Amino acid sequence: MKITFAGAAGTVTGSKFVIQLWDNKRVLLDYGMYQGLGKETHSLNAEEVIDPSTIDAILLSHAHIDHSGLIPKLVKDGFEGPIFCSEATYALCEIMLRDSAFIQEADVKYSNKRHGRSEENQYEPLYKYKDVEIALDLFKVVKNNEKVSIIDGIDATFIPNGHILGSTAIYLEIDEISEKHTLLYTADIGRYNTSFIRDPETAPQADYILCESTYGDRLHDRTVDAEQELLNAVLYTLKEKRGKLIIPAFSLGRTQEIVFTLNKLDLHGLLPDIKIFVDSPLATDATNITRQFSHLLTREVQRFSKSRNDPFGFQKLSYIKDKGESQKLNASKSPAVIISAAGMADAGRVKHHIYHGIEDPKNTILFVGYAEPNSLGGKLQNGDKKVTIFGDEKQVKAEIKVINSLSAHADYEEMILYLKSQNAGKVKKLFLVHGERDVQEKFKLKLEENGHHSVIIPKKGDIFST
Ligand SMILES: [Zn+2]
Repeated sequence: MKITFAGAAGTVTGSKFVIQLWDNKRVLLDYGMYQGLGKETHSLNAEEVIDPSTIDAILLSHAHIDHSGLIPKLVKDGFEGPIFCSEATYALCEIMLRDSAFIQEADVKYSNKRHGRSEENQYEPLYKYKDVEIALDLFKVVKNNEKVSIIDGIDATFIPNGHILGSTAIYLEIDEISEKHTLLYTADIGRYNTSFIRDPETAPQADYILCESTYGDRLHDRTVDAEQELLNAVLYTLKEKRGKLIIPAFSLGRTQEIVFTLNKLDLHGLLPDIKIFVDSPLATDATNITRQFSHLLTREVQRFSKSRNDPFGFQKLSYIKDKGESQKLNASKSPAVIISAAGMADAGRVKHHIYHGIEDPKNTILFVGYAEPNSLGGKLQNGDKKVTIFGDEKQVKAEIKVINSLSAHADYEEMILYLKSQNAGKVKKLFLVHGERDVQEKFKLKLEENGHHSVIIPKKGDIFST
């Protein structure tokens, strides 16, 4: 067996790994986009790292674009095999991938017009809407925790991992005639004891592990109550400062969890008379799908549904799809909570909200999830005093706040807890993926303290052979 680290090696986004058998059959674990890497991002996504004709199947861990976003490109380039994932992941991919194509087509149209590109010299999107439709036809839904045959020699089990709705780790049983191997791809590991997504489930013993490492150097503060922190930010910004609380949030996952948290605060009478907006068409659609699959969420969400019908809707909250409404909100000076995508603030409507609100000290920009250091969100979290948005230099006068305990990613203790299902002595190699290199070095030390002695930090393009 060979493992090729084709993406998310030494960086967080762009997850893609190839598993190759002795007979050259190849399957892909995820095929995600790079995000938030500045100017480099597009060329990284445009380069062909994998010949689609050599791939027999794709196994998809979850619907986030940094794991799923390049699948339509592979299909456009000729991939025709099956794409396996959970039922909720498929439902979410329908909206996520269509949205991704829509954004790209709109961006390219805008750039071609702006740069006056001639007919034969036009920018091209990575893929179009029609490629997404073809890709969606290749999806095959699998049940969680049930072994399925992927190709001759590879069986896979999709095991919920607590990250977002529908997300799973993928456990492979590989039979190469002369050798048998097991491999666990953790994908993005979720948190324990949250009120929203159920805990990660344990995986069987594996010979090889591909483990994420996003927060490999960090502990989420368990002494702070995330709900209380969020409430404090709302009260302080809207009531004391009379400003806007702008929350950049991934359309899928973060947005629904924050809405649910605000809904709970409101049910307990803790929210004053305020206006809350979810300003993102994609988040609105993702919320509808989350409603459909709410039986997969925690008991707390189920209980809540009984006392107040909708975990994702209440009187103070409005969802905005219309662009004109969103622009009105940009211009408005009234106090409000605005939850908008993208989470790294590099794109989407939230970038406009930040553009218009960043120079007003009355406002607060509140981060609740991971942002690449080079993205706008990363720079603001880093404390930069000046940033460039849409080509204009802006002074950072709004307050910048971070609540890490709302993150959907496990910290290093939680990842180590997740790996407790494994007898470290039996793991032949543990590869760290989906993390910044310096973070991975620190996480490696932690893992070694916990008995994992063959921890490897692969670089992009590295191939490991058993
Ligand atoms: Zn994710």
